[in-house]
Amino acid sequence: MILSWWRRFRLRRALRRSPLDDHTWRRLRQTLPLLQPLQVKEAVRLRELTTLFLEDKVFNGAGGLEVDLWKRAVIASQACLMVLELGLESYHGWTEIILYPEIFRVQREVTDEVGIVHPQTAALSGESWERGPLVLAWNEIERDSLHLHPGRHVVIHEFAHKLDALNGRANGMPPLHPEMPIEEWTRSLSEAYARLQEQVEHGSHHTCINPYGATGPAEFFAVVSEYFFTAPHHLEERCPRVFDELLAYYRQDPRKRMERRPSG
Ligand SMILES: [Zn+2]
Repeated sequence: MILSWWRRFRLRRALRRSPLDDHTWRRLRQTLPLLQPLQVKEAVRLRELTTLFLEDKVFNGAGGLEVDLWKRAVIASQACLMVLELGLESYHGWTEIILYPEIFRVQREVTDEVGIVHPQTAALSGESWERGPLVLAWNEIERDSLHLHPGRHVVIHEFAHKLDALNGRANGMPPLHPEMPIEEWTRSLSEAYARLQEQVEHGSHHTCINPYGATGPAEFFAVVSEYFFTAPHHLEERCPRVFDELLAYYRQDPRKRMERRPSG
């Protein structure tokens, strides 16, 4: 088949140009909690995707940060874990990843309700530009990647925005598979979103998931994706219908991997 020939050719070329060597791969598998419980078949596929991702994307350091293979591989491997069953095409249409050493500040103009434009400074740990670069803070990536923080993972959050933006503006709905009815996705996610917003408005200290998800439908999708990969059982318990939609969308079940993780 032409496709598999093309894939083999690209993989061979990628391995030659930017090999993900055995040492780095072993270190990723041993160090990153999300990669530890992968089964052999999944791991082989992930390594292949990660290698091609490293070939496709351009990483640039900002604020004096040197971007070595380890930093690139930590980002690439976890971004690829999300698309293990979707393929690398899910990240097409953009190429650059800009990495800051820590939380960065951006200046932007915000228009208020009466149409007046105000300059605003925001501190960000990550930002995804539609069709443009992905900007990330390395210290936040390290924090979320080396230890499992249920419901929090900046790489998953920002790459979920990239998946969401594949069919136009990031609006909380990535391109769904043909077997997934749009109405069901919309109903399941908007109900859970409305519930979260209500909890936040009532000042509840015990929101079902991170209240940041209530700031907009795109943030909601990014936040539930963080839970899906880092705390799938929690998401299944709190928002079962959202969990089922993500299960159908990502075409993988992180619950099985969590159950395989050594406890403690
Ligand atoms: Zn976001």
